[in-house]
Amino acid sequence: MNAGETRPLPASAKCTRCRQRAVIALPSHHANFCEACFGLFFRRAVLRAMKKFPIKAQEPILVAVSGGKDSLAVWSVLHDLGYATKGIHLDLGIPAFSEVSQEAIAAFAHRKGLSWTSYALRDLIGYSIEEIRRKTRRPICSVCGMIKRRLLNRIAVQEGFRLIATGHNLDDEAGRLLGNLVRHRREYIEKHYPYLPSVHPRLPEKIKPLYRVSAEEIRTYCRVEGIEYLEGACPLSRGATSHMFKEALDVLEGRMPGTKRDFLFAYIEARSAPKPVDDFGTCDRCGEPCYGTRCSVCALVERLQKPPRKES
Ligand code: SF4
Ligand code: ZN
Repeated sequence: MNAGETRPLPASAKCTRCRQRAVIALPSHHANFCEACFGLFFRRAVLRAMKKFPIKAQEPILVAVSGGKDSLAVWSVLHDLGYATKGIHLDLGIPAFSEVSQEAIAAFAHRKGLSWTSYALRDLIGYSIEEIRRKTRRPICSVCGMIKRRLLNRIAVQEGFRLIATGHNLDDEAGRLLGNLVRHRREYIEKHYPYLPSVHPRLPEKIKPLYRVSAEEIRTYCRVEGIEYLEGACPLSRGATSHMFKEALDVLEGRMPGTKRDFLFAYIEARSAPKPVDDFGTCDRCGEPCYGTRCSVCALVERLQKPPRKES
């Protein structure tokens, strides 16, 4: 059993909230729940996060969806909490993965009556992630992360949205914070917050409504709600160092339940939401906001279009 896992309970266990039979244990909260009260606990955790963000109450939300548990759970809860949402999927062109991702999204959206659009990376920039992986020496996840961030901003503006939600959870955020602290990456540490303001009229605000719930709680939520998500990880994710920081925190969580929450929340509570800093230029190739005169996506595409250097 993984650290932080929601465990089965003996028949005598009572729900902390309603005193009916409990079937889900949350050691990090010192609580046991029946399925209905667990759903309530989960939605309240997301609502608590949403109240912390300095966003307009009725702002429609574009939800970045991959078909995995996190993105379908965040979309589901935001919709159930009454927010107007639309799903956006970036088809990265990863063989045998991108197709099943879209099938999971399509089935979920159909069941909940939600609208969504898929954009193919190849149509947007001329290359799939698989093609980029073959042509570049940089770690593919950092290239892919940069592309997704930038293109989602662009798509949000085109679709008329000012707010993007992603499915990053407590484990993701605590692991990333630990990694940035260990490597003393000050520029990332300073921006580490589950809300990012818009720093340019063509850049939307960003929120991470699941930052208060763990990966395991999200799995339980999906099971309780009957959400069928894509189980497998992206085949290109192997060896990502972010997994190691998460595993290190899992060890601590197993010995001291609640450690991940204490670590992340203490950091977040000590800070206020970042303020907009407008030091942006405009990309002279695509017109998108960027630092300097060439955005990272256009710089990448230019490098990919150059013919390979001949070996001497
Ligand atoms: Fe992209 Fe890496 Fe995530 Fe795969 S694991 S979708 S390559 S960032
Ligand atoms: Zn550009």
